[in-house]
Amino acid sequence: MHETNIERLKKVMNNIHDKKIYSISQNTDENWIKEQKEKEEARKLKFDTFISSINEMYTCKDCNKNCRTFGTRLDDKVILKTGLCFDCLIKMETQLKIDGKYEEYQLTKMQNNAKSWLTDFKQQLNTYKKEYSDQIKTYVSDNGEVEDWGGGMDNDDFNKLMDNVYTEIETVVFGEDSEEKNEKI
Ligand SMILES: [Zn+2]
Repeated sequence: MHETNIERLKKVMNNIHDKKIYSISQNTDENWIKEQKEKEEARKLKFDTFISSINEMYTCKDCNKNCRTFGTRLDDKVILKTGLCFDCLIKMETQLKIDGKYEEYQLTKMQNNAKSWLTDFKQQLNTYKKEYSDQIKTYVSDNGEVEDWGGGMDNDDFNKLMDNVYTEIETVVFGEDSEEKNEKI
């Protein structure tokens, strides 16, 4: 369920990269090409960091399973809240019960970590919204035409996609009915 919007976002960003590289190759000024390629690399790098921070959040801290790619529905329910896949969480809880330490078990602490990650993630999404809108404005072709860098997606569509990505992840962290789930980016 969480893959849909994130994967869609990834595809949109890849389309943007492809389109730019294609268009850059039509300009013959070598310095200009070099400069654009460097800008392109910097942007790509930033987006890769963004994707890897999502992957990191979906990776079990115990067994290293990537729950975004290999996870079950049960993993989906717990990975963002606890940092553990379902099996590892059950294993840990069972061990705590055996050791008589289940009472001190700090699920709250894990949830606070998830919340703080979510705050950072929200900031990242806002940065991407801003960059996307700047890109659409900035890229104008040699003959003065504004080119479509958004892979057919306008600003509103892109912002909506970002909001959907956030809502999906937020729902996993806080649950469907949580009162904390009321902020929008
Ligand atoms: Zn695990």
